[in-house]
Amino acid sequence: MTPPFAPRLRADLLVEPGADGVVVTDPLLRRRLNLGDIGDVLDRLDGRPVEALSPTGGLADPRTEQVVRTLLLLSMLEGAGEPERARLRRSAPLPLVTLPSARFSCQGSGGCCRNYIFGPLTDADVARVEALDLSAFDLGSGPFYTTRPRPDGKVDRYLQTTAAGACRFLEAGDRCGLHTRFGGASKPGFCQLFPLVAWQTVTGLRVYDGGECVSFPASASGATIAAAWEDVRGLVPEPPLSNPVVHLAPGAPCDLAWFLPVLDALVTRVADDVSPVATLRGIGAGLTAAITSLRRCPLTEDGPRAAAAAARDAAARDAVAAPGARVEEGRAAIVAISRALAEIFAAPLSGPGAAPPYTAEIVAALRRLEDAAGGGPALPAEDPATRALWALAFRQRLFGQRALVDGRPRPAALRLCFDWLVARACPAGERAGHLLAARRLDMPWQPVHRLFIQAESALEPVLDALDTL
Ligand code: SF4
Repeated sequence: MTPPFAPRLRADLLVEPGADGVVVTDPLLRRRLNLGDIGDVLDRLDGRPVEALSPTGGLADPRTEQVVRTLLLLSMLEGAGEPERARLRRSAPLPLVTLPSARFSCQGSGGCCRNYIFGPLTDADVARVEALDLSAFDLGSGPFYTTRPRPDGKVDRYLQTTAAGACRFLEAGDRCGLHTRFGGASKPGFCQLFPLVAWQTVTGLRVYDGGECVSFPASASGATIAAAWEDVRGLVPEPPLSNPVVHLAPGAPCDLAWFLPVLDALVTRVADDVSPVATLRGIGAGLTAAITSLRRCPLTEDGPRAAAAAARDAAARDAVAAPGARVEEGRAAIVAISRALAEIFAAPLSGPGAAPPYTAEIVAALRRLEDAAGGGPALPAEDPATRALWALAFRQRLFGQRALVDGRPRPAALRLCFDWLVARACPAGERAGHLLAARRLDMPWQPVHRLFIQAESALEPVLDALDTL
């Protein structure tokens, strides 16, 4: 007979009192979490069965159950998530994971060096470029980079750009001056990788096309992503582990390892011949069902694995409900979010110096969207010829780090809706708008992330309103 589950905190975790509760440091996953006022429950995780965990020693009460469930989903209890941690301890390379049938081949347009935010630069990037003789470039008297503060107070460095939004190292004939003079390995790491993105998780190294190439979707052809990665992997250091906590809902954290199967299942819902509205609503339904499944994690050592499997199945299959009655609420939310985003992006337009052209473009698209959602002229009709483009884009975003906004999947789903809405509202057309949204709506140095997080509860109303614009 299987012995009853007797939860114990992992012995390798460091538990300390913090100002607002218990702080737990996980040295293997390299993260530190404030878990709040749960010290009394931790004291009872002494080998007694889960059924006897209540303060009186009887059946566990709802609060105790919830704390144990949270610790399970964070892989902080002995046994939970052990195979994943064992892989990390072996320090062997994690398996390469790519989207099935994903491809990339450079079309040589030079567009990756224009209308873009070039960074952030790593310390190694800065040291490598600083060591070069840069006197041939028009860089002024300062460093070759500019800095921008991040919401967390740190500062990121970006390559300098011209008033027209091009990298200052870009030369005649769309040639990279660094590459021409000093070789491809002298360029910043992100230039060498572009448009591939490498995301090191506990379950594998996920490599994907970030979807920001100006030639997209023509560039999503040719060599497989695995082959394209082989060409560049020696040029850049192995990316560090990035295994963020996923916030399923406010106060409901979960290890990314249990959420990745949900993302993979959501990818399977995306079909080339379906309208983006139907796809987005399917993603919303799958995500809601998956989050519900994970939050019902059984209180057993294998509970998170069982919950992740149930969540994966729910994400792939859960039926889409008929559009709800929250259309007006959704339109009002689109008005408010578009207006707030436009204000964020418009700030440089009133500052000193010329803002790059894409600033005015994104503001114009957002103002048009705000107008349409507020009852003004409707957006151009959905173009069925772009469905395959959107299917590719949605798969890439769901597979990679854009599936989360600061660890949150629902704000990321809301951003997916805005990717599509902004593209349709773009005065230069939906295809140009796709690139505009891809490059502008994921900028960590702007308060864009915070805005989507604050608007998380608008996801369902916005989904209801999508096909009314
Ligand atoms: S450093 Fe070279 S490759 Fe990188 S953005 Fe500038 S011109 Fe392009």
